[in-house]
Parts: sequence; C-alpha cells; structure tokens
Amino acid sequence: MHWLRWRKWGDASIVKHHFKTPELIKAKLKRCSVCRKTKPYAEFNKNKSTIDNYQDNCRECIRKNNLRIKNKFNGLYATWQSMKKRCYSPKCKAYKYYGGRGIEVCKEWQDSFQVFYDWAKNKHRKGLEIDRKNNDGNYTPENCRFVTRIENMKNSSLRGFAKY
Ligand SMILES: [Zn+2]
Repeated sequence: MHWLRWRKWGDASIVKHHFKTPELIKAKLKRCSVCRKTKPYAEFNKNKSTIDNYQDNCRECIRKNNLRIKNKFNGLYATWQSMKKRCYSPKCKAYKYYGGRGIEVCKEWQDSFQVFYDWAKNKHRKGLEIDRKNNDGNYTPENCRFVTRIENMKNSSLRGFAKY
C-alpha cells in the first residue's frame, strides 16, 4: 500500500522536496532546506547558482552552522585567525608588537588551519592561550605552547621588564 502510494504520488513528492513549489515562489516564500521553516525571501542570502537565485538554507541556519563550526574546533579557529591578524594586518591593534616587530606565522600554519589544528588539538584546553616561548621567535610548532591567561600576562610583563 505504502509503496503503491509512493509510486503514484512520487512526482508530486519530489517537487515538494525541492522546497520550491510554485505556490511558495508566488507568495515570495521559500522553505529552508535545514530548519524546514517557510520564510520570506529576505531571510535568504542571494546565490546566483541556484534556480531561484537564493541559497537553500536560511540566514539563521547559516549563522547557527558557523557557530557550530567555531565550537567544533574549541575556539582554535579564532586563535588561528587572530594569530595571522596580529602578524599580517597592520590595522590590527596588536600588529606593532607582532608583525611590526617581524614576527611571522610559519608557512605551514599560514596556509592551513588543518595543520595548525592537528598540532594544537591535543595541547589546547579551554581557557588556554597560545604563547611563544621565545618572544622574538615566530609562531612555529617548536616555539609555541598553550598557557593560561595569567601565565601569558606574567610572561609578557617579565619580558617587558627585561627589555626596558
Ligand atoms: Zn533555516
């Protein structure tokens, strides 16, 4: 019975599963392929490669998904990004202490979050910050470790006293 019905209604089901029924398009609504809620087009990002020029997941789902990615890597993605910013973005407030002093991120880490993550995942715990053992050295697997914020501040102030 079930299979017969499926075969009979098969075509209609496929259309429905495309989330782009003529009724919805006419009403300027679109069903999100992730949360399955029907929402106005304004809640979807434009995307030229789709049939109706809008992405299949709503903005809310994209935002939630990004958060999930961030959480998944225990904040290490943010660590990786800000490390590169400190070294290569003159607009960054801390640039003068890093990039401005010639501190660099090693090529392997610069090019690949995955490589950095593989090195960091077993060393990093919540609340720890990346620290360079040699303050004049680069961000490399050999020169880096994870320390608590307090240790990190203590180290930098000690270095500060030593320098001046
Ligand atoms: Zn959604």
